[in-house]
Amino acid sequence: MPATIRSPQLPNRVSFREAVQDAITDRRARACVLLMDLDRFKEVNDTLGHHYGDLLLQQVATRLRRQLREGDQIARLGGDEFAILSRLSTRADAAGLAQRVADCLRGPFELEQISVDVQASVGISMFPEDADDVETLLQKADVAMYQAKSTRKDVAVYDERCDNHSPSKLALTADLRAGLQDDQIVAWYQPALDLRSGQVFSVEALVRWEHPRLGLLPPAAFLEMTEHTNLIKPLTHRVLDVALLQAATWRELGIELTMAVNVSPGVLIDEQFPSQVLDALRRAGVPPAQLKLEVTESALMSDPEVAHEVLLELSKLGIQISIDDFGTGYSSLAYLADLPVSEVKIDRSFVGRMGSRSKEGIIVNSTIDLAHNLGLRAIAEGVEELSLISDLKTLGCDAAQGFAISYPLTTGDATEWLLNLEKVPRIEGFKARVA
Ligand code: C2E
Ligand code: CA
Ligand code: CA
Repeated sequence: MPATIRSPQLPNRVSFREAVQDAITDRRARACVLLMDLDRFKEVNDTLGHHYGDLLLQQVATRLRRQLREGDQIARLGGDEFAILSRLSTRADAAGLAQRVADCLRGPFELEQISVDVQASVGISMFPEDADDVETLLQKADVAMYQAKSTRKDVAVYDERCDNHSPSKLALTADLRAGLQDDQIVAWYQPALDLRSGQVFSVEALVRWEHPRLGLLPPAAFLEMTEHTNLIKPLTHRVLDVALLQAATWRELGIELTMAVNVSPGVLIDEQFPSQVLDALRRAGVPPAQLKLEVTESALMSDPEVAHEVLLELSKLGIQISIDDFGTGYSSLAYLADLPVSEVKIDRSFVGRMGSRSKEGIIVNSTIDLAHNLGLRAIAEGVEELSLISDLKTLGCDAAQGFAISYPLTTGDATEWLLNLEKVPRIEGFKARVA
């Protein structure tokens, strides 16, 4: 995190450690440590700039302070990491506070006309049960925070039974380095439906990590950490290889689909990326037009010039480009209109809540119009209800993806799903078939 971000006037790591030490020294005391980081801070900072990053941190600090009782201590440990020390004595009380903390950060933050959503996972450790020194208490709260992230919960209390199984960031990074060599990185596949023809026209490869001790990990458990290390490039290339080889296998079975692969910001601004993608296509024997790369608005905004160049190269090769999570970023429409993009993917936060008169419904409707006016296809993601499919069709939406059509599937299940589509279409008015 750049050192230029000003502190939102909270005590820092040093004073927090002193406060925890005081609690420990008072042997009769019982206390809990809550640790959290914000999952979209880096994106706000990178795309909107440090001024907005500062504003966000200040507002986070204000909301957190409101949750505290007398005697509680709050600190900003660095970057987007916050900690709270409270004299609460039971795990249940600590979990209650942690949940209130997570809840209070959920609503949008209004930063000078820009509305920003963040989320936090909170890890908890207890004194004296979990540890009786500052370092270990913080470390165990960190383990719990990762436990929360990997199970996609808001809150986790430290549990020693999970400790071996929920390594710290550092251990996980080392594991991933090994895992990349050992084929532990796999892809699951989620199909998408063309709403005009009723055909399944593409699948999205979604990374999973088959961790030898932790079991199957979703991207939420490791992607953020990977994006902060130089492992995001090997990870992306691994998923690309796996997905393209799968596309080639399906081709041989007569299933010809666009294969969509997600690309992280750090990878997109690498000038080598287009030629590496071309190599991967050649290795798998898949034509460029069959590959779609999904990039987020924030990926485009972190270094717009290089991103533009790279996208241009990719599209010249015939590769399709989709803007993922559309509507959640902060890019200007003028900038998007200039990009060699073929599709926008409307974020599931709008699609999931698009009642006929809701704000989200209006956003979905106007995004579809906007996409069409720019000559792009609109695809709605996060379609959980079958009824949404006909609503989307009425709005002129081109395609849909979501649990209502299919969950992400393992390679085996996806192959079976694609080969037996007549079993699939519970969707009225559609005879799903592969293009
Ligand atoms: P995404 O690109 O927006 O992918 C869609 C995510 O939404 C997937 O979560 C999928 O399981 C979930 N999803 C699909 N349909 C529905 C639905 O109807 N309702 C709800 N609530 N969720 C739905 P997953 O697999 O956990 O992936 C999460 C995110 O991780 C992805 O979001 C993407 O940003 C990232 N990701 C996944 N695979 C890769 C990868 O290979 N490389 C990179 N860089 N990022 C990846
Ligand atoms: Ca995606
Ligand atoms: Ca998305």
